[in-house]
Amino acid sequence: MKHISEIDMERYLDGTLSFVGRMLSRHHLSKCNECAAKLESLKKDRDELKRLSSIMNDLDDADTKSYNVTCESVTQYFSTESAEDDEN
Ligand SMILES: [Zn+2]
Repeated sequence: MKHISEIDMERYLDGTLSFVGRMLSRHHLSKCNECAAKLESLKKDRDELKRLSSIMNDLDDADTKSYNVTCESVTQYFSTESAEDDEN
C-alpha cells in the first residue's frame, strides 16, 4: 500500500490537492491509521503555527504602536525644548 506523501498531506490540508488526489487521499486515510495519525499531527502543527503567528502579529502591532507613541513624544519633547533647531 502506497502511503500519502507529506507534500500531498500539506496540499490536502491547503485544499490545493486535485480532486482525484483528494478522493485517493480520503480513501487511503479511511484505511490507513498511520497516515490518518500523521495528517492529524500535521493539522495540529498548522493550528499551533496559526495561533503563534496571530500572537506574533498582535505583538508586532503592540510594538509598532508603542514605538510610534514613543517617537511622537520624543519629537514633541525636542520640538518644544529646542524649537529653534532647524534640521532642514
Ligand atoms: Zn498510509
